Amino acid sequence: MGKVLGIIGGGQLGMMLTEAAMKMPEHISNVIVLDPSRECPAAKAGAKQIVADFKDKNAIVELSLQSDMITYEIESGDSEVLESLKSSVSVNPSPATLRTIQDKLMQKTFLNENKIPVSDFVTIESISDLRKKIPLFGYPVLLKARRDAYDGRGNFRIENESQIESAYALFGKRQMMLEKFVDFKMEVSVIAARNTVGEIVTYPLVENIHKDNILEMTIAPARVDPKVAQGAEHIARKTMEVLHGAGVFGIEMFVTQDDRVLVNEIAPRVHNSGHHTLESSDTSQFKQHLLAILGLPLESVRLRHYAVMRNILGPKDFSGRYKSVTLAPKNGVFLKMYNKVESKPQRKLGHINVIDVDDTKDINMLLKKAEEARNSIKFEQAD
Ligand code: AMP
Repeated sequence: MGKVLGIIGGGQLGMMLTEAAMKMPEHISNVIVLDPSRECPAAKAGAKQIVADFKDKNAIVELSLQSDMITYEIESGDSEVLESLKSSVSVNPSPATLRTIQDKLMQKTFLNENKIPVSDFVTIESISDLRKKIPLFGYPVLLKARRDAYDGRGNFRIENESQIESAYALFGKRQMMLEKFVDFKMEVSVIAARNTVGEIVTYPLVENIHKDNILEMTIAPARVDPKVAQGAEHIARKTMEVLHGAGVFGIEMFVTQDDRVLVNEIAPRVHNSGHHTLESSDTSQFKQHLLAILGLPLESVRLRHYAVMRNILGPKDFSGRYKSVTLAPKNGVFLKMYNKVESKPQRKLGHINVIDVDDTKDINMLLKKAEEARNSIKFEQAD
């Protein structure tokens, strides 16, 4: 008999985990998600749903009572509540790992202590502390909110002295840290998995291109010297060794102008830069996550074909229900919509994977195909 999987969060990641779970009924018999939006993507994909806020303690307890194991697609879960559930249900990644990652200062301190390269950083306690510490790094410099900061919304790049006050005021009473600005040549990431018995695998390094602080596309593999890719994959493995969490993690890194690799941030969950694995790789990151938390042997991470993943974001000038979108069938081009009821500006509504099925290894051609496919999709208001 398969187990019941509980997922905190039923957005697109929860949806793709649900779909992967349904393909392994011998291990997982049912999926239940906790999500505040009715008709969330995971529920539409067949998961049962508890409609409640992610931080609703009673709802999390209810989820645990109905589940044999719990995981999450968001990192803002209440680690204390999750900790209290541990005796009755397995929770992976562990609440302790989640707690370290949730606070960017704790996360960076942890990485630094474990000799994993990160950009220089310091804590900030007050505006006078900020003024005093900026000269440690010079301008530009990044002021970051330590918690609950997504898609760059918790960052302020301070260019000169005149911006110090407004930067500090922006974060109000939130705890902050200051980080040396990295003049990176590329942003990259590794999807890594560790199962509950300690086996680790790392997917090949990919390249990430952001626009307005949101991931626009991922190129697999990253266009870097093989030595850089090896180095980054080694750093990812080491990160997984010290973190002890089970599941898939997205490890975001910078490649500096002189080809050093620095870890920027860890996501304790399946990651947008791993969506290409659905069609490009021997094993998708979603299946791999489930194998990892079930304690089953991890499977091959081989990239079968080069790939470009292009996110589909809601248009900036439109909010509301939209007519369903399609893509003309084309060899190696895959559209995945998340079935979200409403579009909002910059909301992640779907993605396109362009797979190099003919093995041309021509990334420019894949980029062009992805751009054409994206441009052919128009959003129109539903009646
Ligand atoms: P974060 O929210 O920390 O993941 O940062 C969001 C984006 O801000 C990253 O993807 C980078 O593009 C940029 N960023 C974050 N930290 C730094 C840094 N120390 N130096 C330069 N850019 C950064």
